[in-house]
Amino acid sequence: MTAWLDPVRAALDQRTSPIAMFIRDDDGGWNNERLYRLLDVTRRHGVPVDLAVIPDAVDAALARELWQLTMCGELVAVHQHGRTHVNHEAAGRKSEFGRSRSVAEQWDDIHAGQRRLHALLGAAVDPIFTPPWNRCTAVTAACLAALGFEMLSRDADAETFGFDGIRELPIHLDWTGRRGVAAGPDAWGDAIAARLRAASAPVGLMLHHAVMTREDRTLLDELLRLLTGHGAVKFSSMAAMGSCTSARGVV
Ligand SMILES: [Zn+2]
Repeated sequence: MTAWLDPVRAALDQRTSPIAMFIRDDDGGWNNERLYRLLDVTRRHGVPVDLAVIPDAVDAALARELWQLTMCGELVAVHQHGRTHVNHEAAGRKSEFGRSRSVAEQWDDIHAGQRRLHALLGAAVDPIFTPPWNRCTAVTAACLAALGFEMLSRDADAETFGFDGIRELPIHLDWTGRRGVAAGPDAWGDAIAARLRAASAPVGLMLHHAVMTREDRTLLDELLRLLTGHGAVKFSSMAAMGSCTSARGVV
């Protein structure tokens, strides 16, 4: 039963130019079993996945698994997702790298996370940063550029910083967000179709394996079967998408 994908199929059929897509899965380090089940799905369709990993949540066992996956042609890439994924804002929207954090505090956290990931995964880590909750400030962007990061990934609706020291590759479709599959497969299919119809730049699909159920994975399987079987879509890793200097030169 894939009627929920009918609008997506129609949107793809109507495209006159190809669509570049990437998949970013957040919160690496949380609920590893669900991560492996999600990777079963993406592997089945041969699509690359960029895993945003929380440095302080990765243990040695997961690091070994990720090293194997990244180095053995499994189409899995790894990059940094904040440091500990905690909220530091006393009011307003959650953020680990929000307005209340000083330059020194942001630098220290980014740098500590960077060192930890490199100690655990070395050359497997791409120079990409995804801030928790997709939120950070211009200070964050400046710190990232100075620390050697080449790409920042936030939500497509985020305010621009007017800072060209780092490339941005935003996500557009949030599988587990309010406008994602929570609204029901039919509404989600309409939302995906609308995005694909309007796409003039790479389209990023954001996943959160830790809260994705078996039903979510079934729907994702159906979506990927359609997308990978249609000539209008080409999946790439984030590093390849942004002409980033991937440490591994993958995909
Ligand atoms: Zn997160």
